[in-house]
Amino acid sequence: MADGAPASPDLDGVTGTVPPDGTVPSDAAASRLLDERAPLFTADAPHIYTRAQWSARSPKRPAKILDRAPDHIVVHHTDTGNSTDLSLGHAFSLSRYIQNFHMDKRGWDDSGQHLTISRGGAVMEGRNRSLASIRAGDLAVGAQVLHNNEHTLGIENEGNYMNTAPPGRLWASLMEVCVWLCRAYDLDPGEAIVGHRDYNETSCPGDVLYSRLPALRRAVADRLEGSAAAAPKPKSKPKSKPKVKPKVKPKSKPKPPPKPNGGDDYGPGNPSQYYHDDDDWPGLLNLNW
Ligand SMILES: [Zn+2]
Repeated sequence: MADGAPASPDLDGVTGTVPPDGTVPSDAAASRLLDERAPLFTADAPHIYTRAQWSARSPKRPAKILDRAPDHIVVHHTDTGNSTDLSLGHAFSLSRYIQNFHMDKRGWDDSGQHLTISRGGAVMEGRNRSLASIRAGDLAVGAQVLHNNEHTLGIENEGNYMNTAPPGRLWASLMEVCVWLCRAYDLDPGEAIVGHRDYNETSCPGDVLYSRLPALRRAVADRLEGSAAAAPKPKSKPKSKPKVKPKVKPKSKPKPPPKPNGGDDYGPGNPSQYYHDDDDWPGLLNLNW
């Protein structure tokens, strides 16, 4: 970021196009910002950074809205660098990077995922209409799990978690986001929280993060039980749709190793990532996203 950038606390450092690998040092004030706010996201007072805040482009067309709740929350990793830049500026840059990638390289209408969580723990709206539809108990159809976009909601977690664990701030926000979503949609975390590899042939969300999904389900369940004991259960929109049986493989069954280049949500030059004539999403689809 250039010296003399505007001092707006929420928007400082977001005007550039810093790649999410952190090759460009960010403004010191913006870097400090997230450390001064703990926790960044709680289910009791959810704060989502809006598309306007991260300067999203307009989608090619508005997201399709289904008048029903998703039945699964899909955990992804972005497979971008494990940046040490925890700033909001970096987080917003990541959101722009993903949107540009999905729109320009994948040919999609907009960001594929509904929510993005930075390594600093900032939670951002991804696909257009996601936030409003979550609040309404509906689903904005994303592009994040091939053949399963019409019943799932996707969360992109910044970084690559094949060999390392997500940082505490990201983990804390992910857990709280899942609490928030389970409340909003009346979902059982033990059933609802899955990894991308449960649906598609991909290494996403990384071996380490995937191995922690049972802990995530337990933590979310504990949090929901604790809050249910302390307060009446919030109203949830009644849904008449019968439960869609997930095509999730048994969790005890070991996953086959991903094919080379097959697990990169951002992997270069993998033509198999493109899929034509999908019935639930027009245009190009990524087998591994
Ligand atoms: Zn994924």
